[in-house]
Amino acid sequence: KKYTKETILESIKKNDVRFIRLQFSDMLGVVKNVEVPVSKIDKVLDNQVMFDGSSIEGFVRIQEADMFLYPDLNTWLIMSWEDIKEGSVARLICNVYKPNKEPFEGDPRHILKTQLDKMKKLGFGAFNTGVEPEFFLFKLDQNKKPTLELTDDGGYFDLSPIDASENVRRDIVLELQKLGFIVEAAHHEVAYGQHEINFQFDNALEACDNIQTFKMVVKNIARRHNYHATFMPKPIKGINGSGMHTNCSLADLEGKNVFYDAKSEDGLSKTAYEFIAGVLKYANEYCLVTNPIVNSYKRLVPGYEAPCYVSWSKANRSTMIRIPASRGNGTRVEVRSVDPAANPYLALGIILAAGLEGIKKELVTKPVEINLFALNDKERKELNIHNLPENLSEAVVAFENSSFAKNVLGEHLFTKLIEAKKEEWNNYRTSVSEWEIQEYLSII
Ligand code: GLN
Ligand code: MG
Ligand code: MG
Ligand code: MG
Repeated sequence: KKYTKETILESIKKNDVRFIRLQFSDMLGVVKNVEVPVSKIDKVLDNQVMFDGSSIEGFVRIQEADMFLYPDLNTWLIMSWEDIKEGSVARLICNVYKPNKEPFEGDPRHILKTQLDKMKKLGFGAFNTGVEPEFFLFKLDQNKKPTLELTDDGGYFDLSPIDASENVRRDIVLELQKLGFIVEAAHHEVAYGQHEINFQFDNALEACDNIQTFKMVVKNIARRHNYHATFMPKPIKGINGSGMHTNCSLADLEGKNVFYDAKSEDGLSKTAYEFIAGVLKYANEYCLVTNPIVNSYKRLVPGYEAPCYVSWSKANRSTMIRIPASRGNGTRVEVRSVDPAANPYLALGIILAAGLEGIKKELVTKPVEINLFALNDKERKELNIHNLPENLSEAVVAFENSSFAKNVLGEHLFTKLIEAKKEEWNNYRTSVSEWEIQEYLSII
């Protein structure tokens, strides 16, 4: 345990904490928070802070809306980037509980924790996860509204500092380091104005908390530079979109990576193969979770380094799963379909569940070491490789028909997510896009 009530009280004194943000995530992965003055710290630490959940996405009906926040003490963090006149602000990430003291089934963190418990029952010690979130930086207009103007649209200003956003990226990294993140690498991505920052892997729960914090930091620091950072999967047609490659492995109780087998030909264990097989088997059924918005499916198209076919390989980047070269304790499976619009708790929870199913059922699978984009539909079919859903509607259908997805998310979130996503799709389906106007207005 990193923090106890006592060490939190010490930290409050030492950092002159004035406010505490109690955070949790809604079904869509949006961070919500209730802020309390530090004088209420006893109430906070005794799990007494209540809120009305009735207007939170994926929460409950008016009549049963009272929820309690049980802070996870290990998530105590001084929010160094907050602009406060005196003292400082801290946050605690909370689990959401019902008045009857049971965990709330609509709390995404609870869904992940449930899968982690199942994993432990199968004898594993940890689900280690490292993500590679990508994002774009756009300029703000005079009213501080985001534009589609890129921050380092090279061609035009070739001789000026080409990567103006490099400073922003550095500031983000510095801020992350202040917060205790171990940043592995930060680089400009393929597209103009696109960046990627990788931080050290962690147990899935901590990794998810980190993703939520990471996004907040990126957005806040970008703002400071008058830029807008977006994790929207495909903001611009014709160039790469933003993914959130998810590297994962299972460890045994001693922390040893069980995906590694020194004696096997490729260094991968039978467990790794089974895990991969499970993750692929349910790929379409959980795609709604890893790629949750209309726009997610504009990224999953050929030609932009994003996957659209369900298969894996040890090197080829056209597949949904790739196995990075490192072995030993760094042996891992890189799931490349996930995008940063996903609710990380639900996405990791359901990927873990799929992998565990593969292990339980001892599923078998073979890698495909050819460039899938170079094949036609018939050739892929012969190799038994199918497509990921092509749009949100297909993803909803696959999800709705999945008893696997229902089991992992539980009746409550399963139903709520379908409702919300059907509404989103309908809204999209009935709107008339710029593309249609361009294409049809003048000629028809
Ligand atoms: N941006 C690509 C995607 O959408 C990934 C590019 C890369 O990291 N090689 O997944
Ligand atoms: Mg990367
Ligand atoms: Mg990348
Ligand atoms: Mg990658």
